[in-house]
Amino acid sequence: MEKITEWETVIGLEIHVQLSTASKIFSGSSTAVGAEPNSQASLVDLAMPGTLPVLNRGAVEKAILFGLAVNAEICQRSVFERKNYFYPDLPKGYQTTQLEAPIVGPGKVDIQLENGEKKVVRIHHAHLEEDAGKSLHEEFSDAQGRGMSGIDLNRAGTPLIEVVTEPDMRSPEEAVAFARKLHGIVTSLGICDGEMSQGSMRFDVNVSVRRKGDETLGTRTETKNLNSFRFMDAAIRQEVQRQIELIEDGGTVIQETRLYNGDTQASRSMRSKEDANDYRYFPCPDLLPVVVTDADIAALRATLPELPDAREARFIDSYQLSAYDAGLLAGNRFAAAYFETAAQHSGDAKLAANWVIGDISARLNAEDIAIEQCPVSAENLGQLIQRIKDGTVSSKIARQVFDACWQGEGSPDEVIAAKGLKQMSDTGELEKIVDQIIADNAEQVAAYQAAEGGKQKKMFGFFVGQAMKLTQGKANPQQINALLQQKLAP
Ligand code: ADP
Ligand code: MG
Repeated sequence: MEKITEWETVIGLEIHVQLSTASKIFSGSSTAVGAEPNSQASLVDLAMPGTLPVLNRGAVEKAILFGLAVNAEICQRSVFERKNYFYPDLPKGYQTTQLEAPIVGPGKVDIQLENGEKKVVRIHHAHLEEDAGKSLHEEFSDAQGRGMSGIDLNRAGTPLIEVVTEPDMRSPEEAVAFARKLHGIVTSLGICDGEMSQGSMRFDVNVSVRRKGDETLGTRTETKNLNSFRFMDAAIRQEVQRQIELIEDGGTVIQETRLYNGDTQASRSMRSKEDANDYRYFPCPDLLPVVVTDADIAALRATLPELPDAREARFIDSYQLSAYDAGLLAGNRFAAAYFETAAQHSGDAKLAANWVIGDISARLNAEDIAIEQCPVSAENLGQLIQRIKDGTVSSKIARQVFDACWQGEGSPDEVIAAKGLKQMSDTGELEKIVDQIIADNAEQVAAYQAAEGGKQKKMFGFFVGQAMKLTQGKANPQQINALLQQKLAP
């Protein structure tokens, strides 16, 4: 039989993180998104001759905060360089970035996989740079109806850090776990709004494959600008498959930059990869080296908020959550805050965690809403959980109540009252219902009494179903079960 080759996937990520400063990295223009094209492009952003950049201190501080959060060395004398290339959305003809002396040196991030396995992903470095403008290709045509492209420089000069990892990830799951963790870190720090669909965080995935046991890395490709975790996962899977098939068919992987289209799920080659030499990097003569003192670093360290790892440990400790659940909730500071409020209001952290990770996440995902905009407040979720616990509603009816709260019909208590959803726990009332079911279904009762074992159990379900039907699902399930057992006994 032919020997089957076992392949190993190797992944390294480069992530562009837009820093949420009010103004740009080298000019005073606003970084807000959504304005009229070019209404937020100053003379500096337009690269007018004679203009000079002025470094935004806030961008430097946010980059340092990131470095501290990933246990990295902070470079106390970092240097801006010019990366020279031509593109219409880059009127200066170069991007101001860092190469030899980036502000954030080597660091590391812990990730956790669904099976509970933990792993460290090393950060190679993170550097400060400016974003480019945007070319708009669709919206314009001239008087003859010929297509034209427009340039919008509102984004030009938006501060970024580019985070570069070592090629430490071995599967799409690991890459996505890392990406989520990084998202949790930058949003917890408050240095980035984390809005991936708006391009606030953009992931480039470097992927190669090699035969299991090989020492050297295979040739990699880089797929650029993935802006959702789902696309990232899909793009990696597809690229791994493409490379394996290529090699197994006797071909070789070419080092190139690729584009993945999430809508069509197709990827294509964009260009062969340039070397750093091609860009003719040199230190920017317009900007002084960025000098950071020990005191600056200490002052910033003192402002660090609670980060996902610490929050996860606290959730395990104070709420007895499983490591995986704690990790999921702690990763997003809004989900974490929502969970904590619901846990406090319900007095049951485990149930609160289940609801947030389960029903609420599913619904938010389906409707593409962030938890900050969740139509059911954390206080109301807490109230709903209380009503399940005190027997006012069954967990099945609770979902109906949740649905109504989601539609804006009020608090759980209001919905339960308005719709008459209170669970029937009055034994006298339930007894009447059971008697009626038995009277109306003489045939089934006789069959039930004649049956045994599994068959009988199945038939029991029929009577429970009838009781639920007659009470619109409101009968207390434990009581109905007990009553039926008692009254159906021959
Ligand atoms: P370049 O200087 O060409 O940009 P780098 O060495 O800086 O290349 O690596 C860029 C990214 O690619 C890093 O995230 C790194 O981890 C990743 N990477 C490098 N080699 C490989 C490889 N063989 N397979 C997968 N990822 C890789
Ligand atoms: Mg690189």
